[in-house]
Amino acid sequence: MLKAQNLAKSYGPVPILTGVSLEVKAGTTSVIIGRSGSGKSTLLRCLGLLETPDAGTVILDGEQVFDGSAAHRWRFGRERELARHRSELGMVFQRFNLFPHMTAAENVMLGLTEVRKIGRRAARAVAVEHLAKVGLDALADRYPSEMSGGQQQRVAIARALSMRPKVMLFDEPTSALDAELVNEVLQVMRNLSTEGMTMVVVTHELRFAREVANEVLFVDGGTIVESAPPEQIFDSPQEEQTRVFLSALR
Ligand code: ADP
Ligand code: MG
Repeated sequence: MLKAQNLAKSYGPVPILTGVSLEVKAGTTSVIIGRSGSGKSTLLRCLGLLETPDAGTVILDGEQVFDGSAAHRWRFGRERELARHRSELGMVFQRFNLFPHMTAAENVMLGLTEVRKIGRRAARAVAVEHLAKVGLDALADRYPSEMSGGQQQRVAIARALSMRPKVMLFDEPTSALDAELVNEVLQVMRNLSTEGMTMVVVTHELRFAREVANEVLFVDGGTIVESAPPEQIFDSPQEEQTRVFLSALR
């Protein structure tokens, strides 16, 4: 469903990603782990087409959505095409980025009315349907300031889902939350994974990774050091770097 080959990205002279390749099969969940500053967010932003890689390719559902080879780079600049592909990728960030002056339903409706050009009444129905999926239909008319962080993050997930993305990308979705609110968000993600959503999740929640991931990717030094099913990564990592990283967390 989502495939990246040899993605490279530098900020100025500093290489952040140095040839990252990965493949996420339809209906599976890949979890990316790695130390702070190792390039996880940069990788996710490249996959989500929010950042232009310097080189490499991104293929979404069989369609090449980014080609870093010189001759085709300009494709990335075609705003309409880019906007379409971006809307096929649901992004959820550490900070929820809800508009404070809009209710939960209005936040979810925004992409439907502005990007998909759906009328307000129909958009409202879709919004409430997706708020129900995250257990929040009863709070559809609340403002973000009237909701807990966990509830706000679930609204952000409903907002992404309402666009019917092909892939959901999560960047540390629970790390801004108070500990007691983490599980309600992870539970929503667990359900999505079980229902067959294709997902890429950057997280430090290793228990979640073990339970939910089909594949865990350990990123370090701008590249994927090791990728394997969770049991292998956590119980018998093959690479020294992976062992060092994991033992520091235990
Ligand atoms: P992670 O998500 O794994 O913590 P990031 O992808 O956020 O890592 O960052 C990787 C490195 O790239 C860090 O050293 C960070 O300071 C740097 N970086 C991230 N974004 C930018 C940017 N827009 N400009 C310059 N440097 C950046
Ligand atoms: Mg990050």
